[in-house]
Amino acid sequence: MGSKLLSVFLKENIAELKSKGLYNEIDPLEGPNGPRISIRGAERINLSSNNYLGLATDERLIAAAVKATEKYGAGAGAVRTINGTFDLHVQLEEKLAEFKHTEAAIAYQSGFNCNMAAISAVMDQNDAILSDELNHASIIDGCRLSRAKIIRYRHSDMEDLRAKAEEAVRSGAYGKVMVITDGVFSMDGDIAKLPEIAAIAEEFDLITYVDDAHGSGVLGGGAGTVKHFGLSDRIDFQIGTLSKAIGVVGGYVAGRRELIDWLKVRSRPFLFSTSLPPAVLGACLEAIGILERSTELQDRLWANGNYLKQGLEKLGFNIGASETPITPCIIGDETLTQTFSKRLMEEGVYAKAIVFPTVPKGTGRIRNMPTAAHTTEMLDEALAAYERVGRELGLI
Ligand SMILES: *Cc1c(COP(=O)(O)O)cnc(C)c1O
Repeated sequence: MGSKLLSVFLKENIAELKSKGLYNEIDPLEGPNGPRISIRGAERINLSSNNYLGLATDERLIAAAVKATEKYGAGAGAVRTINGTFDLHVQLEEKLAEFKHTEAAIAYQSGFNCNMAAISAVMDQNDAILSDELNHASIIDGCRLSRAKIIRYRHSDMEDLRAKAEEAVRSGAYGKVMVITDGVFSMDGDIAKLPEIAAIAEEFDLITYVDDAHGSGVLGGGAGTVKHFGLSDRIDFQIGTLSKAIGVVGGYVAGRRELIDWLKVRSRPFLFSTSLPPAVLGACLEAIGILERSTELQDRLWANGNYLKQGLEKLGFNIGASETPITPCIIGDETLTQTFSKRLMEEGVYAKAIVFPTVPKGTGRIRNMPTAAHTTEMLDEALAAYERVGRELGLI
């Protein structure tokens, strides 16, 4: 039977979410997560994946995954520090460091896991962390896990950050102080003000931590926002994910060798969770090789992003202030946003509604994620659906 208290808890809370329209139903894909996806027997244009460069379905990555699996097996068999480190892990980490222009790198099982691992390996209850109010959930959880004092600053507000940094340092109440930010903010597509953050960090000797999940493979010739601003030797922690532009799964920290050496002996997911499997390592190595050889995929991603943005703007939609291919279409009202997304789905376009609490109340939006794999015809089809639904709902 199980616990009655648990049953009551689950029933009440699920019913509440459903009544508020906040209960997320999952739509399984019946094939690959490419530019067109199949859901419930119907093909739709996919504007919801993080597969920026189309690498998740790239034949070269699939071949590399198969090859590595045939040579090393399906699983890693152990955690990194026992005997779950293949030569492929070492190669991947060397390649990541080269790609990020840092001395060394360490790979984790996911980007989420990476934030659980890295923050608490360095920060503790005697420390403080200055955190942008729009930071990703995994950054927030990673900060909480460290037990450091979390001091939120207003989104990309450098005066607020500077004032709070000064107060934290002058108070003498903390050992170390860190500033932590997304490189690219995933809901609006804006870029963190890293040159200003680096300057403030240098003024107050803050540890700098940039989670570049949405910048890696997209900005800075692929190396991300830190490289984009020419700050590779001024940011202590550069976090990346292997799950978005790289198209597979995994996360990493790139930085100075001493930092990486420390993480290898102190970060708990590295010590206590089985390492990335061979297929992932093979595919990721292939993906980074592709990015090093050519910027073709990034160029196509940006061209597609700009095309979609211009198209939506011309139709009269509010596309916010994105500086990257992430293309929000801001509707405002939560229910209207959900209806809009549902109608787009019926019109053959899969683009998710993002509403409170993921974004502030009254700023509900459809978040469009164009990729390098979309064709102009697909984007035109999507824009035609936006036009039909936009007129029908009286938005344009
Ligand atoms: C997506 C994301 C993550 C999580 O990465 P996964 O590899 O999917 O676990 C972490 N941080 C940020 C900023 C993200 O956008």
